[in-house]
Amino acid sequence: MLECVGYGATEASAPVSPFSFNRRDPGPNDVVIKIAFCGVCHSDLHTARNEWRNTTYPCVPGHEIVGHVTAVGADVTRFSVGDQAGVGCMVGSCRTCAACKQGLEQYCQVGLNGTYNGVEPVIGGPTFGGYSDQIVVDQHFVLYIPKGMDLAATAPLLCAGITTYSPLRHWKVGPGSKVGVVGLGGLGHMGVKIAHAMGAHVVLFTTTAGKSEDAKRLGADEVVLSKNAEEMGRHAESFDFILDTVAADHPIDAYMGLLKLDGTLTQVGAPENPLSIHAFSVIWRRRNFAGSLIGGIPETQEMLDFCAEHGLTADIEVIAMDQIETAYARMLKSDVKYRFVIDMATLPAAA
Ligand code: NAP
Ligand code: ZN
Ligand code: ZN
Repeated sequence: MLECVGYGATEASAPVSPFSFNRRDPGPNDVVIKIAFCGVCHSDLHTARNEWRNTTYPCVPGHEIVGHVTAVGADVTRFSVGDQAGVGCMVGSCRTCAACKQGLEQYCQVGLNGTYNGVEPVIGGPTFGGYSDQIVVDQHFVLYIPKGMDLAATAPLLCAGITTYSPLRHWKVGPGSKVGVVGLGGLGHMGVKIAHAMGAHVVLFTTTAGKSEDAKRLGADEVVLSKNAEEMGRHAESFDFILDTVAADHPIDAYMGLLKLDGTLTQVGAPENPLSIHAFSVIWRRRNFAGSLIGGIPETQEMLDFCAEHGLTADIEVIAMDQIETAYARMLKSDVKYRFVIDMATLPAAA
């Protein structure tokens, strides 16, 4: 087995702190990656603290992983030692169901296997994520990082990038679309950048007045302070599509009223508590309230290539591994500009 060092939580109330563990020896289809950087997603915090009530402890979060290949199994054809590689939110799926066959592994009918909080198929126990020195992953779930992309700023594309790209593509956002993005955090700032690159007119909804200039720099055409009813009212019944990335309790009906006939609001933010929505929000103007989960492996590669072509990466703040709890505290205050990325060179060596 591979001895690994990382950071993890042993229970919901425990801080994420140094943790040593084993990974499986690479099998014929496995790629071993020395992790250079790992982004910090709000899902890491939800899971470390058991906010979705499904965490298996110990829990090593992290699913925005980039690094270099250090070993490959005998049947690995897609990667060689030294290649730049990435891993997102999934490390396994059945590969044979209708969803998997369409490249929609995230909707696998048997169940996707998460990069963390999943089930390690060979040695048992939970899967451990990217807050660690190395990872062993089936080649199917490893992504190419196009040459020339800044590794640290590319890490967040593996979750925040694909989670916003996939619904924007699915609902056919492009030139002529009026698109709203709710929340300027990790997902939201990638949503603004990608929707802008797709040619849409982008309106950012924020609760933080101080983010307006940044939002415009990132690609928003307009910024609305969502607490201001008059500003909201100016956009009534005008949007084709709204992407809601908010991680906490918030009103949905106020945004539904901004959709035009047949418009769609897609929820990607995953707050701890149920959301409420008034029936008339969807009845009126035949509107749609939808959701979307990350993206499949082929679409994740498409997104990375799209971002490389358009010169898009995340706006990041690089932190040391031992600053993770401070980063979580800032995340809870919506004070992230706009993704924390952990430099894995700062991990303490094995004890
Ligand atoms: P984040 O960086 O913390 O951003 C969330 C943003 O939401 C904040 O920056 C803030 O933006 C806004 N916000 C926070 N609290 C709010 C409140 N009480 N009311 C209104 N707005 C509020 O989080 P993230 O990493 O982008 O993740 C966002 C959510 O998506 C999380 O719940 C995460 O678990 C989920 N997620 C889902 C998927 C999926 O596949 N569907 C994938 C990844 C993550 P402003 O300051 O601009 O208001
Ligand atoms: Zn994530
Ligand atoms: Zn499947």
